[in-house]
Amino acid sequence: MKNLILIAPPAAGKGTISSYLVENMGYQHISTGDILRNVAKEDSQRGRLVNSLMKEGKFIGDDIILPLFKEELLKLHNTPFILDGIPRTIEQADYLTQLFHELNVDNYVVINLKINQDTLLKRATGRRVCEQCKEIYNIYFENYKPKEENICDQCGGKLIQRNDDTEETFKKRFQTYVENTEPLISYYEKLGKLKKVDVDATEEEIIENVKGCLND
Ligand SMILES: [Zn+2]
Repeated sequence: MKNLILIAPPAAGKGTISSYLVENMGYQHISTGDILRNVAKEDSQRGRLVNSLMKEGKFIGDDIILPLFKEELLKLHNTPFILDGIPRTIEQADYLTQLFHELNVDNYVVINLKINQDTLLKRATGRRVCEQCKEIYNIYFENYKPKEENICDQCGGKLIQRNDDTEETFKKRFQTYVENTEPLISYYEKLGKLKKVDVDATEEEIIENVKGCLND
């Protein structure tokens, strides 16, 4: 099984793919968010530093993130991994390439999840959350629609739209995503590591395609 780096826009289904690989294929999911949250609990100098940066919502630099990533990779031995949330920049990609070289990790693939912008927009702006039990719905997709408009199927609670699930926020986020990832995509294309998976498909088809990339 190849190690995996996932590059995907928000709401493209990265979470679903990662959970499948972790639960069914023995992958370890490594995300920047989890690493930082764990370090923030440590009773150490760096733990306190990360904790205060996170509390203040401040930017956490590569000088902190990259060594933590290396530690995490060293703990894995031969377990295949999925990297989530890194690399976001060419500097991070370069660091990873060097690190993989150092650790003799050559069997990896970078999967770019491709999705139509209109589908993504519907996923974001159609999302409704139950005020009480937090169940998530989507008014634009048959399988995710509540049975009764604005009412939770599970508990009868009221469904609300989060403030940041608006078209404007989505468009800003998507634009930032495109600007940030285009250089990364060509970087991995040049290294011969890039594969594309279309996620305008059923969950089964997506999983099959991802598996295909991890096997060959
Ligand atoms: Zn509910």
